[in-house]
Amino acid sequence: MYKFVDMHIHSTFSWDSEMEVDRIVEMAKENQISFIGLAEHLDFHSQHEKSYMFYNYDDCFQKIQSIKKSFPQISMGIEAGEPYLYKDAYEKYLENKKFDFILGSVHWIDDVSPVEDRYFYKYSTVEDAYKKYFEEEFKLVNYGNFDIVAHLTLVHRNGRKFESGFSYNKYKKEIDDILKIIIKKNIALEINCSGLRMAAGDFIPDEEIIKAYLNLGGNLITVGSDSHRYNQLFYGLNNAYELFNRLKIDEVVIYKERKPIKIKIKEDIKNEIKS
Ligand SMILES: [Zn+2]
Ligand SMILES: [Zn+2]
Repeated sequence: MYKFVDMHIHSTFSWDSEMEVDRIVEMAKENQISFIGLAEHLDFHSQHEKSYMFYNYDDCFQKIQSIKKSFPQISMGIEAGEPYLYKDAYEKYLENKKFDFILGSVHWIDDVSPVEDRYFYKYSTVEDAYKKYFEEEFKLVNYGNFDIVAHLTLVHRNGRKFESGFSYNKYKKEIDDILKIIIKKNIALEINCSGLRMAAGDFIPDEEIIKAYLNLGGNLITVGSDSHRYNQLFYGLNNAYELFNRLKIDEVVIYKERKPIKIKIKEDIKNEIKS
């Protein structure tokens, strides 16, 4: 039996989720999920103004404090979009706020999201579209100031329709540059399960990239369903844990007060989560 954690869940504190926190917690109990992380959207992009305006830190904080009385295995996080582009606003926003963890994401490149078809039409070749995406990811991790890099290779979630020949080796230079930086900065690598239910049909990033991360010396791995709907909650965790088993990854990280805590993924290994 695995000790499943899901560190990428969007509740109704995100503008685009339908899931109530109370119901998420009930479903975590029903599904024997050991630990959950709420990662609510915080975006500064002008086309995402709604989400920045939407997130209510005080209400979210109060809600999670009250949940913790009966279910302490929960962390309060945000998923920050392009913080490297909006440094001043981002850093000011973090002042006097207590988050358990922050995911760093690239959701927008100029005026379009790399999960949309029209992103790929902007570039003369699909390789250029992928390379531009990796350039932005590099800027994100190079800036840092967050704990977990979310869905590295998000471009491939939908991009598989255009780039069937995607592989780690094809973009090795670009990907290695990013992996080396996150290892140096102690930023965790998220294994995002959303690709399993979309065009990519795979983890984001995929197994070859996870292996490359391990080979380069990385040892902070986390996992999340990136769910916004009840039928997506915890989706793919089983597959992820089977993958971890195959790759001999025996720990995942959760975060409390912006500090990583390594959790053994098997129940028969001691070291219970300190709540
Ligand atoms: Zn995201
Ligand atoms: Zn997300």
